[in-house]
Parts: sequence; structure tokens; C-alpha cells
Amino acid sequence: MHQVAVFSSKQYDQVFFQRFNQDNKLSFSFFDTKLTANTVELAKDFDAVCIFVNDQADKATLTQLKSFGIQTIALRCAGFNNIDMPTAKSLGINICRVPEYSPEAVAEHTVGLMLTLSRKFHKAYNRIREDNFALDGLMGFTLHGKTVGIIGTGNIGLATIKILVGFGCKILCLDPEPNDAAIALGCQYVNQEQLFKSSDIISLHCPLLPATHHIINQDTLALVKPTAMLINTSRGGLIDSKAVIDALKSKHLGYLGIDVYELESNLFFENLSGEIMQDDIFARLSTFPNVLITGHQGFFTEEALSTIAQTTIDNLTKLLNDERIESEFLLYPQI
Ligand code: NAD
Repeated sequence: MHQVAVFSSKQYDQVFFQRFNQDNKLSFSFFDTKLTANTVELAKDFDAVCIFVNDQADKATLTQLKSFGIQTIALRCAGFNNIDMPTAKSLGINICRVPEYSPEAVAEHTVGLMLTLSRKFHKAYNRIREDNFALDGLMGFTLHGKTVGIIGTGNIGLATIKILVGFGCKILCLDPEPNDAAIALGCQYVNQEQLFKSSDIISLHCPLLPATHHIINQDTLALVKPTAMLINTSRGGLIDSKAVIDALKSKHLGYLGIDVYELESNLFFENLSGEIMQDDIFARLSTFPNVLITGHQGFFTEEALSTIAQTTIDNLTKLLNDERIESEFLLYPQI
């Protein structure tokens, strides 16, 4: 039976992997540690590794994996910015992923952030528990009729658009590859400047690539309406956090809702409530009353975790047995 080392694993990963590994096609060992060049030794004697968003498959790590005879890496997520792809290719390491496990899960979380920021559910919840029924400070805005700019109209961007069309929003889109389904829903593709200038809400759904790194920066923030809401459920590196802090401080940005953060690998998925926060940028961000942060939980639904476990087990079984695998699940080799 093929042995798989699962890095950055939590209790829920074990539950879902065991649930969908009923005929014991694979043998999983779960490590709570992240995969890095310092922890890669743990993968020795395994046939494959399974990693998540904050594991680091950099050159040093990949080279070590290859020296252990490991040919297969399974990402149990869609994004792959944490893999040094040129090195993986040059080493001939097979890489599979779960390209689409529940775009609706992330889209619903995205709209949840929008509504919570606007209607202040988090504040209302606390007030009512203290029998404070006053409405001062809870004034929101109506989504109906607002212009929402969607950057990246792939699976999650499109699922978000479908919800927002239902709210009666006007949708502007930015994507080098326009999506016919978005156009059919009445969305309009515009250039970056138009999108930033005209949107009441901007929501990021493009991958983190060299071209999209810090797509939200001092210059692009200078274009947005001072009342605008910025939402990021994609990857933290899309936003220059310092520039956003400056915009919030100077009241050039109305709201920020993020499920991802540039330096989240030092923070997210762990209970650090007894520790002293060492990240001053994150500490500052969390002080603003118009900022809402969740800890990369957009994917975290029963349905999404089931699909992630099923697809990852299927991907690994096929790759490790040299069986044909659909191209959408393979990052390398491309077929
Ligand atoms: P996708 O590949 O279906 O869509 C991405 C879209 O972005 C594509 O249409 C692509 O053409 C577009 N794009 C590429 N470069 C662009 C650019 N420079 N400007 C504008 N658009 C550009 O991906 P998806 O499944 O919709 O996922 C989007 C992102 O969401 C992923 O990259 C991942 O990082 C993130 N994600 C987050 C969570 C979470 O839990 N918060 C879960 C899953 C995925």
C-alpha cells in the first residue's frame, strides 16, 4: 500500500481523509507541522506528500523530496503559489491539485464578509447579548444597485457574481480571459482603472502570480472611491497590507474584508490566543472598526472538505498507480 505523508494536517483533515479512504487504497500519516526545508526529513520513506496552502514546496524542499525518491505531491487546495513550479518541472515531480471543490463555499463566504461589514452583524450580535438594543453606529448600506468590481472571473469569481446578480448589483469585471457565463449574466468587462474608479465594492478572485502580486497597492488604492469596500478571499499577496493601512488611516478606503493575509503562514490555522502578537501589520489591521478578518476559512464547509478528500485520494491513487488522470487535476506534467 502506498504511504502518504500529510503535512499541516488538522483533526478535520484526518476525519475526512479516513472517511473517504474506506477501502484503504492509501496509508496516511498525519503531521501537524508545515512542510518546509527544515521539516522535509519527515517525508523520508513515504511515496508521496500531501500539502496545503501554507506549506512551502520551495527549491530546497523539492530537491530533498526528489532525493528521497518522492515523485508525487498532492495539493489539497486549488492555489499553487507555494510551489516552485520550474524546479518541480525540472525534477519531474508530479503535482496534482483540487481545482474546484466548492467555488460556492468561497463565494458565499465572500458575500458574508460584504454583508457583515455593511450591516455590522458582528457588532449587533455583541450588543444584543448585553441587552443593548440601540441602533446608533449600525447604519449600513443597501447592496441592491451598487457596482461591484470582480477581479478574476473563474470558478469563484463567477459563483460570487451569480449571488450578487441576485442582490441586484451591477457587475464590472477584470480578467485577461473573459468568461462567457459572466457576460451572459450581464457583466461588463472593463480595464483596471475603470474597475477601480467605478466600483463601490471590489472583490479579488484572481490567483497570486507575479502579475497579480500587490495588485492592490498605493497607486491602485488612489483610484478607488473613499467609501469603497475591498474584499479579498483569494490570496494575501494580492494586497500590499501597508498601503491598505495607509488608505484606511487616511479614510481613503471605506471597508476591508479579508480571509487571507500576506504573512498568514505565521498565524493562520493555529490558536495563538495565549501568545504575544509579533506581526505589527496584522495587529494594526485588526484595530480598525471597518476591517473584518477571518482566518482562511472560505473553503471550510462540510461539502468542500468532502470533495477535497475524495479528489485528493483519487488523484493520489491514480498517480501512484500510473493510471490516467484528468488534465484539470494535474499541474505537472500537463497532458
Ligand atoms: P480560477 O482559476 O477558476 O479563476 C481565476 C481567474 O483569475 C481566471 O479566470 C484567470 O483568467 C483570472 N486571472 C488570472 N490573472 C489575472 C489578472 N492579472 N487579473 C485578473 N484576473 C486574472 O480560480 P478559482 O477557483 O476561482 O480560485 C481563485 C483563487 O481563490 C485561487 O487562486 C485561490 O488562491 C483562492 N481560493 C481561496 C480559498 C479560501 O478558502 N479563501 C479557497 C479556494 C481558492
